[in-house]
Amino acid sequence: MNGILYLCATPIGNLEDITFRVVRTLKEVDLIAAEDTRHSIKLLNHFEIKTPMTSYHEFNKIEKAQYLVEQLKKGLNIACITDAGTPGISDPGEELVRQCIEADIQVTSLPGPAACITALTMSGLGTRRFCFEAFLPSDKKEKQHILEELKRETRTIVLYEAPHRLLKTLTELKETLGNRRVTVARELTKKHETVFATTLQEAISYYTEQEPKGECVVVVEGKSFEEIREEEIQSWEALTIEEHMQVYVEKGMSEKEAMKLVAKDRGISKRDVYKVVHC
Ligand code: SAM
Repeated sequence: MNGILYLCATPIGNLEDITFRVVRTLKEVDLIAAEDTRHSIKLLNHFEIKTPMTSYHEFNKIEKAQYLVEQLKKGLNIACITDAGTPGISDPGEELVRQCIEADIQVTSLPGPAACITALTMSGLGTRRFCFEAFLPSDKKEKQHILEELKRETRTIVLYEAPHRLLKTLTELKETLGNRRVTVARELTKKHETVFATTLQEAISYYTEQEPKGECVVVVEGKSFEEIREEEIQSWEALTIEEHMQVYVEKGMSEKEAMKLVAKDRGISKRDVYKVVHC
């Protein structure tokens, strides 16, 4: 019988945020794969967990995941924990899960803290629809590509950032997306937790004066539908009514349907469109 991989969410700052189930599971499994064993030993000691640990991190994740899968195949139950939060969210947990799924090993996730959700819920921005971008890529071209994609994103955008790159990222976001609303959530669940709900421009001014400290999550307002609509109107207005009609006719619409849509797009009557087309 194969063992089971347990993804165990651990606190992102406040030790009281661990669940009873995670503590029990960490005590019961045969082995704990931890991102940084020196960091996690403090957590294990605090909860009197004596289970052996092995390191599983970004730089050994491929081979170490293979080793862990072999152990799971021998019937060992293994828990995966990372430095903070939910394994698999922007950390090496993802690779281990991928290899377990490929090897038909059962994976289960014990929910708990994740910095992205914690920040989103207190951001004051829309929570019904959101996208998670984790860290923006360090590669310049890749980053520009993602930023261009985010320009049209209507969902709330959640990003992770290190304090020493915060100002640069806020500046790049402002340059690409314009001056949107933003919430910078720092040191979540810790003593000096701060949630700064502001605009990109104000955040840039603030962090130019005040050196950013501590881990942070940046939550940015998505593009509003009004803004998209305005841009569409502007782009239609760059066309003549005949050219605008042609766009819809080329999509296979009848003249009548095209006229109706052109009138709607330009906020004019069908009669006005008809006059231009037929007079
Ligand atoms: N797996 C983790 C999770 O579930 O949130 C995320 C790991 S990722 C390597 C680390 C990033 O998460 C940090 O750079 C920061 O952006 C964010 N983060 C983690 N803990 C945080 C906290 N207490 N306050 C604010 N952001 C935090």
